[in-house]
Amino acid sequence: MKCRKYFRGSGRALAFVFVASVIWLLFDMAALRVSFSEVNSHLLKERVARERELARQNKPPRHARPININNSPFRDELMHGGDVDLETELRLPNKVERGAFEFGKRKNPANRHRKVNKDEYYPEAGGGDVAAETHRNSQSSMAKFAMSNTKTPFGESALINVSKSGHGGKEHATPTARKAQTPQVPRGTPDDVPRGVPVHSPDLRKAPPGVREEQVQPVPDADARRSVSRQKGRESRASSASQKKAPSGARLQTEKLLSRDGKAEEHVVKGDRNDGVISVEGPLNRSGPSLQPTSRPEALPEAANDTSSVGVHPSGVHKVMLIDFTQKPRDPGAVGQFGHPASVPKEKEQEMRSRWSEGHFNVYLSDQIPADRAIPDTRPEACSESMVHDDLPSTSVIFCFVDEVWSTLLRSVHSVLNRSPPHLLKEIILVDDFSSKDYLKEQLDAYMSQFPKVRIIRLKERQGLIRARLAGAAVATGEVLTFLDSHIECNVGWLEPLLQRVHMDRKKVVCPVIEVISDKDMSYVLVDNFQRGIFKWPLIFGWNTLSEEAIRKDNLKDSDPIRCPVMAGGLFSIERNYFYELGTYDPGLDVWGGENMEISFKIWMCGGEIEIIPCSRVGHIFRGENPYSFPKDRQKTVERNLARVAEVWLDEYKDLFYGHGYYHLLNRNLIDIGDLTEQKQLREKLKCKSFQWYLENVYPELNAPLVRAQGLIFNQGTRRCLSLEKGWLTFETCDLTKQRQQFNHTWMWYIRHRDFCMIPSTTNDTVVLEPCDNTKSHLRWLHKSLIPNSAMLDHFVVDLLSGRKCLEAKVQGDGVHLNDCNPSSQLQKWQFTHYYTS
Ligand code: UDP
Ligand code: MN
Repeated sequence: MKCRKYFRGSGRALAFVFVASVIWLLFDMAALRVSFSEVNSHLLKERVARERELARQNKPPRHARPININNSPFRDELMHGGDVDLETELRLPNKVERGAFEFGKRKNPANRHRKVNKDEYYPEAGGGDVAAETHRNSQSSMAKFAMSNTKTPFGESALINVSKSGHGGKEHATPTARKAQTPQVPRGTPDDVPRGVPVHSPDLRKAPPGVREEQVQPVPDADARRSVSRQKGRESRASSASQKKAPSGARLQTEKLLSRDGKAEEHVVKGDRNDGVISVEGPLNRSGPSLQPTSRPEALPEAANDTSSVGVHPSGVHKVMLIDFTQKPRDPGAVGQFGHPASVPKEKEQEMRSRWSEGHFNVYLSDQIPADRAIPDTRPEACSESMVHDDLPSTSVIFCFVDEVWSTLLRSVHSVLNRSPPHLLKEIILVDDFSSKDYLKEQLDAYMSQFPKVRIIRLKERQGLIRARLAGAAVATGEVLTFLDSHIECNVGWLEPLLQRVHMDRKKVVCPVIEVISDKDMSYVLVDNFQRGIFKWPLIFGWNTLSEEAIRKDNLKDSDPIRCPVMAGGLFSIERNYFYELGTYDPGLDVWGGENMEISFKIWMCGGEIEIIPCSRVGHIFRGENPYSFPKDRQKTVERNLARVAEVWLDEYKDLFYGHGYYHLLNRNLIDIGDLTEQKQLREKLKCKSFQWYLENVYPELNAPLVRAQGLIFNQGTRRCLSLEKGWLTFETCDLTKQRQQFNHTWMWYIRHRDFCMIPSTTNDTVVLEPCDNTKSHLRWLHKSLIPNSAMLDHFVVDLLSGRKCLEAKVQGDGVHLNDCNPSSQLQKWQFTHYYTS
């Protein structure tokens, strides 16, 4: 009642004015807020645009290209999050072993791998008690496995089951995440053991049964997703992030940015999770403390607490996904499970031997091993913390095969289907290079029909690996082409690190670390760190370990990309358009061999880069022999391919190729290497750099002297040096400054002065000079190590139809002639100033 009087008369008017002002004020504040948020989003857009521009110019922007972030908000959901795994972590020793050089393309690098030694890495791993081992593992943290296991001694089941697509697959019970038991890996025996049978396949887009609905973010149609994310890129993400209310607690993240040279730099950025383009597949079972992420927010470096440093979302990154789908529960006791070696029972040894030649590996054991067996996660420790962009390009995986063994082919395909983020795997293309095996026809069609992403192309005649790959590439629709051999097993997290590098720079061509699946016991064997592909003369591929000095100089960590002068050839990813810009492979290469050299030189010399990405690992069965036939002679095929490569790419260094045992390839009457016009034109068109540039900048460690020996040629008998005066060979007092005394001993074994070579006359015993011609074998002078007879190492020996002769100084010292070889004659002994070969 008392109050009422205040609302009468002028009091009422005052109250009205007061209320109106309050309402006005409220509106005003709201408007202000909106305009702030607009300004913010505008600023963010600008920043993102700037970053993208920088990225385009290949300068690593401070917050672009995040590779490694601790404490990603994705971690909980994607990695441990759930559950995805039943895994423990394998910690690799940081030991760097210097691997001996291994010759042969994609040869089993015997010295570069070692088995996981149970005692070394799993000190507590005992024999058979799986449950006990599981427990131990949760403390000692070892190899990661995903294991589907609903009814096993593990008690709670493990793992990642994924429902199948609508193609006849069955759904399986929700697994419970759980750590896997320690892998039982044999003690250091260099050679290996067994394997098994296949199963499964998931509809990779469908949430597995038992996944909590709200945790599964739908994967948008890959194309749609890509087009949105690629067009708008970070811009869209950043601006939407700024407009939306930030999810509770924006988090700090440590990014590891890769600089142009591949070295990592740590940065700290503030951010929250992205716009949800990442899907979570697999049951999100959060049971068990062992699945919690190991790195917590509070474990972040100090700088992370400086929230003022960066006020922007890092935009669209997530931790590399650990995906390992299985359709059926995994049987921990299965042959070869966890990549363990298996052995052949005595009574099966005969069968094993008789089936060996089907693949030139232990086919008997391969058939025993599950198609989706688990293998140890052998990645360097830092890899599980690596961050990749949300908008990575999709890939088409291309497997070419000819008469591949059924079980290895299936395991290859399953490993891709099971361990690749579904939205990044556009398709798998199987190119059947005119196989003769029946099981690779209807049976394969029927089996693969359950996987909508798998396409099979059949070639009507045998084309060989190179043209088969081109056939696969021609129908591929993914943005990146990933070529794999048909007897591999992709490890967890293999794909994203590859695509990340291509995404950063489309001219990067990236290879996983190729680990070894033993041809004998089918065990999965990890290889030493810091290995790179190289070659030695005459273009022989091999592996070598980076020197300690190089590692120190570049401050390389075991997870950093490694520049690779030559790729092994079997496994790599390349942006599709870039592959075509480079002119693909030389289609004139036949069947197998040399194509890895060809594409490697082309990539480096024409503006690209080749890297090995240690966070991506794929096992491969290295065989002693090719299990398929070569339409023509194998050796001739490979040599011919290499000669094509040498002719197109090596410039003057091709002498080193021919000079290391391939002289016979110079005789075009014996070997037709085909037309090279197009390849040479391509090199011109692409304005590729010289081979010398390649040697200086990409592979400076290679010993590549252009001649065997060079300088003055000193004669022991006359104590003077050979000289070319007015077209005549004579002798003079030795003088390094005189051009006419300069000669060299070429890789073709010619004695050359400028463009002229010394030629033994066929009629008398004189020697004349003629323009050099590498194809002429009678111009070859054996000298030093080329001469088998050690008593004549200093001689110049020439093999003529009339017999063997030696170059001799005339007694008067006014010229040279040929004479019968005499080991003790001083007039027949010669020395160059410099020798480059032993
Ligand atoms: N390949 C093919 N056609 C051929 C030769 C080979 O499709 O004429 C396939 C083969 O099945 C394998 C890949 O190419 O998947 C690489 O061949 P291989 O494994 O023999 O090479 P390596 O690993 O020994 O270098
Ligand atoms: Mn192979």
